[in-house]
Amino acid sequence: MLLPQYCLFCGLTSNTALPLCRDCRRELPLNQPCCERCALPLARHSARFCGRCLAQKAPPFDRVIAPYRYDPQLALLIQRWKYQPLPRLGLLAASLWQDAVPEPPPVDVLVAVPLHWRKLLRRGFNQSGQFSELLYRRHPALGDKCLARRLLRRQRATAVQAGLDAAARQRNLHGAFTLRGRCDNLRVAVVDDVMTTGATASELARCLKAGGAREVQLWCLARTPAPAN
Ligand SMILES: [Zn+2]
Ligand SMILES: [Zn+2]
Repeated sequence: MLLPQYCLFCGLTSNTALPLCRDCRRELPLNQPCCERCALPLARHSARFCGRCLAQKAPPFDRVIAPYRYDPQLALLIQRWKYQPLPRLGLLAASLWQDAVPEPPPVDVLVAVPLHWRKLLRRGFNQSGQFSELLYRRHPALGDKCLARRLLRRQRATAVQAGLDAAARQRNLHGAFTLRGRCDNLRVAVVDDVMTTGATASELARCLKAGGAREVQLWCLARTPAPAN
């Protein structure tokens, strides 16, 4: 961390311990206003929920915390971090989350979205796993929580989600996760890098609630806008 860091976005010396300069950091798009349940970016401050959450009687997850909008800058950071597991990129993601969410909502346990073992072997690291470790270790408000590293298992390698619509994503993920233990009456935060359609969050929430969880939140760095159709 003593080496000079260059800003991921503008390429200039960042003048901080992280690869992002203060000017570029200020320009990152905060996800406000957004749906109070699923964090979908909303156009107006007057609405509390998006149309889909209003229509759903009992959505599988209770709340999504996604402080930034997934714009080209955030996409660049998340893609780099996925394929080059440099510690400074993970630290940057954790620092951005911590800045935007100084007081996370109360939960009992953090878990990461698991990768299938074959994918983990190929890629060498799980970005969501690293993100959950960093939040857990570095966020002052999370030190007394519990990090459940082995609670969730991905039992099936699923097809790549990109390019699938919401219904196809849901089918693709059905039964993909299993629990290794119970989580009776616990409030669980599932940690991931980005939320797109919510198919993964829904499937994980169903799995955790079947295992006894009282509440399931998804905590991620960024949220994609609604599809344009
Ligand atoms: Zn910059
Ligand atoms: Zn919503």
